[in-house]
Amino acid sequence: MNPKEVIELAKNHDVKFVDLKFVDFPGVWQHTTLPARRLDESLFEDGIGFDGSSIRGWQPINASDMLIIPDPETARIDPFYQASTLHLVCSVYDPITKQPYSRDPRHIAKKAEAYLRQTGIADTCFMGPEAEFFVFDDVRFDHSQPNAGFYYLDSIEGAWNSGREEFPNLGYKVRHKEGYFPVPPTDTLANLRNEMMTTLMETGVEIEVGHHEVASGGQCELGVKFARLLSSADQLLWFKYVIKNVARKNGKTATFMPKPLFGDNGSGMHVHQSLWKEGKPLFGGDGYAGLSENALYYIGGIIKHARSIAALTNPTTNSYRRLVPGFEAPVNLAYSSRNRSASVRIPITGPSPKTRRIEVRFPDPSCNPYLAFSAMMMAGLDGIQNKINPGDPLDKDIYALSPEELKDIPHMPGSLEDALDALEKDHEFLLRGDVFTRDAITEWLDYKRTRELNPIRMRPTPHEFFLYF
Ligand code: GLU
Ligand code: MG
Ligand code: MG
Repeated sequence: MNPKEVIELAKNHDVKFVDLKFVDFPGVWQHTTLPARRLDESLFEDGIGFDGSSIRGWQPINASDMLIIPDPETARIDPFYQASTLHLVCSVYDPITKQPYSRDPRHIAKKAEAYLRQTGIADTCFMGPEAEFFVFDDVRFDHSQPNAGFYYLDSIEGAWNSGREEFPNLGYKVRHKEGYFPVPPTDTLANLRNEMMTTLMETGVEIEVGHHEVASGGQCELGVKFARLLSSADQLLWFKYVIKNVARKNGKTATFMPKPLFGDNGSGMHVHQSLWKEGKPLFGGDGYAGLSENALYYIGGIIKHARSIAALTNPTTNSYRRLVPGFEAPVNLAYSSRNRSASVRIPITGPSPKTRRIEVRFPDPSCNPYLAFSAMMMAGLDGIQNKINPGDPLDKDIYALSPEELKDIPHMPGSLEDALDALEKDHEFLLRGDVFTRDAITEWLDYKRTRELNPIRMRPTPHEFFLYF
């Protein structure tokens, strides 16, 4: 869509407001709203100003003015407002130079796409994220204990082990790791998922499938069609927005936190990836699992840099509670065509090279998708540019291997701290084509260490009371 078509769309829907959204550094949408009379072609040139110092990880107070300029390609009608509202995703600019802001995640994703074309290796990178999420009835934070800060999660399904009481107890409870996928009444979320799928489809998102996931606490997955890197990241934030708002409308709460329940599966965000050039798929070939040599090198790059890019694909302290053996989340850095314990899986997709892709399984939905997708593609490209051999595939249950068998297989970082240290050491490949600037990397490390890692390190946790009080 171009600006004229967006204005036409707004007229056809009798739009009263224009909601301008942009993504902050950690990956959460922020918004501001204009009355419809301000929608004209100049909005797409000049944008509007905002206070960049009030957005996490961005400008200092003495240089706070910034601009957001909407991208007409992202226009759609936002179904969650009472008055007819047009939704537009914006990029962030410096008001004086009119240059894109180096810490704008959307700008980083645009530069990643431009760099891919510049290498001549491919012109398109498709990303297909599968963001799993939990739906809960109730979340309670008890702030009366300032140091302990205990919380409860009530599961809609009242799992045998972790759920709430139900009176009368009518049964059909999901046990831990048995949520995949019995019919109702055991599956209590089918209607809610259908409403989520309907809203997504009505707002232009192609949905492939919806189902209950393995975890008992109301874990779900909706399969969304892959898209180009930048649009896929835009679409993922729209996806999260719809899921959370439909849940809230129904008196529930949805979360993309990677590991909300101890003892059950966490929520991953596997990302299917492939490179294309001039309309031709580059990942199909006659190597292992029908992959091309370049696809194997791409895997080599992902595996080589996984510990570093984890700081972007698994960027929260909670991310590392998911990456433990036994819950279908990867721990070791290996690839395989069927293995869900491997960090890179090659889905069996039939004979056509068009469907040949790799599934990177370690990312989780707490990531900023613009940064995570760009980082993975840069790691994969480094693999192709430097012909990085991914080693032999590992078609075994990795969780069942002995320490002796595991000793030469690299593994994911065990904590956010390890991942940030790895990113600090290994990020030259991210700076190519100026995709990530040094400033963006330094600010990410600083933001994560001072705002998340250290505050968590300093607080006693409920389990420490259990162990030590
Ligand atoms: N929930 C699992 C994870 O944490 C994945 C389950 C699946 O294979 O879809 O990655
Ligand atoms: Mg899944
Ligand atoms: Mg998957």
